Amino acid sequence: MSNEVLLEVSGMQTGYGDLKVVRDASLVVRRGEITVLLGRNGAGKTTTLRGITGLNKVTGGVLNYLGEDITGVPAPKRVARGISYVQEGKRIFHELTIEQNLLLGGYSTGVRKRALSKFVQEIYELFPILGEKRHLIAGSMSGGQQQMLAIGQALMAKPQLLILDEPSQGLAPVIVKEVMERVHALKDTGIGILLIEQMVQDSVAIADEVTVLEMGQTVLSRPAAEVTIEDLQQAYFGSV
Ligand code: ATP
Repeated sequence: MSNEVLLEVSGMQTGYGDLKVVRDASLVVRRGEITVLLGRNGAGKTTTLRGITGLNKVTGGVLNYLGEDITGVPAPKRVARGISYVQEGKRIFHELTIEQNLLLGGYSTGVRKRALSKFVQEIYELFPILGEKRHLIAGSMSGGQQQMLAIGQALMAKPQLLILDEPSQGLAPVIVKEVMERVHALKDTGIGILLIEQMVQDSVAIADEVTVLEMGQTVLSRPAAEVTIEDLQQAYFGSV
């Protein structure tokens, strides 16, 4: 039996003002699984995420989250319902310590202070390096560690659905592998993950479901185990 569907996007349309960038995006994210969203530069991946999180207005199609239509639900309410988004380029506070950054991630959720310190400990179990460096200034950490902190910060909101926009951006290949391993391990916490990546091989390796966007349209959506190199070449370049 397959896992519970957390998010189902069907025929979504969204863009910037009158500019319709995403014309027909469809994808599924299940609990305890990773869906990777691939596509060339400018295909509309980030814009798709912005539609899902409510940052951009959805002008067509349906977003179903935990069995409810959230197409018209405002962005802050989507966060409150458990949708956390780590935007491209890691929004952390460089001058604050790692622990302060994590606590800030939790404050917005209205959770009590004692619960917050428990959540912080859970993040240190997932990302031991953050625990080791908890009292250091976040800006002193490497790019990969800062990315883990940004993910940890998002997890402090106790999401059911974690959305990550290119966590590998700007990282050396060996660090990309480490970040991917950490993202993979997050599945065991029972959340669903929607991941945008340029690193096709590394991300397909940890994915359960693969969706490819081309010019704002979903052109492939399939279990990762059934996706071949030829499928990806076809989706990316239109020919094998
Ligand atoms: P990349 O991998 O380069 O980030 P992407 O697949 O995530 O690509 P998007 O960032 O969603 O693509 O961009 C899709 C299209 O939307 C591009 O043509 C881009 O120029 C346009 N676009 C992106 N942001 C804006 C904006 N703020 N206002 C207007 N157009 C935008």
